[in-house]
Amino acid sequence: MTLTLDMQVLDRAHHLHPFTDFKALGEEGSRIVTHADGVYIHDSEGHRILDGMAGLWCVNLGYGRQALVDAATRQMQELPYYNNFFKTTHVPAVTLADTLCRLAPASLNRVFFTGSGSEANDTVLRMVRRYWALEGKPEKQWVIARDNAYHGSTVAGVSLGGMAPMHGQGGPLVPGIAHVAQPYWFGEGRDQSPFEFGLSCASALEAKILELGEENVAAFIAEPVQGAGGAIIPPDSYWPAVKKVLAKYDILLVVDEVICGFGRLGEWFGSQYYDLEPDLMSIAKGLSSGYLPIGGVMVGNRVADTLIDKGGEFFHGFTYSGHPACAAVALKNLEIMQTEGVVERVRDDLGPYLKACWGELADHPLVGEARSLGLIGALELVADKASGERFDKSLAVGNLCRDISFANGLVMRSVGDSMVISPPLVISRAQIDELVLLARRSLDETARRLGLSLQEEHTA
Ligand SMILES: *Cc1c(COP(=O)(O)O)cnc(C)c1O
Repeated sequence: MTLTLDMQVLDRAHHLHPFTDFKALGEEGSRIVTHADGVYIHDSEGHRILDGMAGLWCVNLGYGRQALVDAATRQMQELPYYNNFFKTTHVPAVTLADTLCRLAPASLNRVFFTGSGSEANDTVLRMVRRYWALEGKPEKQWVIARDNAYHGSTVAGVSLGGMAPMHGQGGPLVPGIAHVAQPYWFGEGRDQSPFEFGLSCASALEAKILELGEENVAAFIAEPVQGAGGAIIPPDSYWPAVKKVLAKYDILLVVDEVICGFGRLGEWFGSQYYDLEPDLMSIAKGLSSGYLPIGGVMVGNRVADTLIDKGGEFFHGFTYSGHPACAAVALKNLEIMQTEGVVERVRDDLGPYLKACWGELADHPLVGEARSLGLIGALELVADKASGERFDKSLAVGNLCRDISFANGLVMRSVGDSMVISPPLVISRAQIDELVLLARRSLDETARRLGLSLQEEHTA
């Protein structure tokens, strides 16, 4: 008890949290997470909570993996740090690069390491512009991304991302970045069939390319399934049509695999699930199951050959690019995923199982759609089930449901009025049952609370 209060006081006084209304949190007080095991986190008040978000989409192997701890310990004893600048490297960085290239689509044979997903996307932006300059087409500078995309929080990450609230804070963004429609059928496309809507999003990409001029467009960047945007699974028609558009014009495809990579969709990479041939892939999060921070850009032969053959020195890199302890943990993480068959289990067993159980929540009066793919899923909360009409934004129903869910012992995230899950890939079937049960209980309570507050409004 005193731990909670002590920490809350110090937290309020000195700690600015990411993506947080500082004042509101100060008034409410933070939850103090003390330890975790498997798919559960524990807080300082003695609650055990099923982590339906795998931390922040990253703790794919779950908590308490001694082998990852041992890998970090061994590496830190042997060589806690050395850089990869100035013609040096070390065994963990090289071995991890080799392992990643064996797992990735065949045309990707090189990795540039970073400390995070945001740094990976900063690196992407510099690389694609550099690539076209070296190819003698320096005017190919524009990068097309999508509305409501999340590509990180650095200046380049925010600029590539398409989140209006983020764009609204902090002044001018990186120039030369344009945004097109996201393939969010439930949110934006229900006047068409999902199939038609997927095609129309691809047409919007083509229209933007023509508007900017093909000769000015460097790359298109997208997540296979949008994570932070709300677990948005594109209609089946979307990616094949986008592939056609990109092939028609000479534009690089950058796939942000920070969430979809490392098994989330039941393949090693989302690119494999959707049969994409990325020129560049951003990776982070599940690469180390979040045990230590590491990210990177996987670079396809086309871009790598040019950077290597024509580029001279690439003036770019981070102190922690390929950090040995982080690389050692990532390597062990990938090894465990392979020996335990984690990806195959998501594809063949857990993904289909979640789809069946989670899909049953579609019968709930608050739920307009229940969707999932692999181990990522979302519920769309609606005011009117028949019409799919949304709640008034001021009610913040998603946040209400999230808080209720947390109190019920389940971490779900709210993105507007979409409730999102992305549990550890090692969750069991019984734990999926528990997750769905807790989600239903939270929906029931949300409905009750809304009913109550509406009644109060009427009597007031
Ligand atoms: C989290 C995320 C990022 C940013 O990664 P950080 O490690 O937080 O910098 C980039 N892209 C996607 C798709 C993400 O989900």
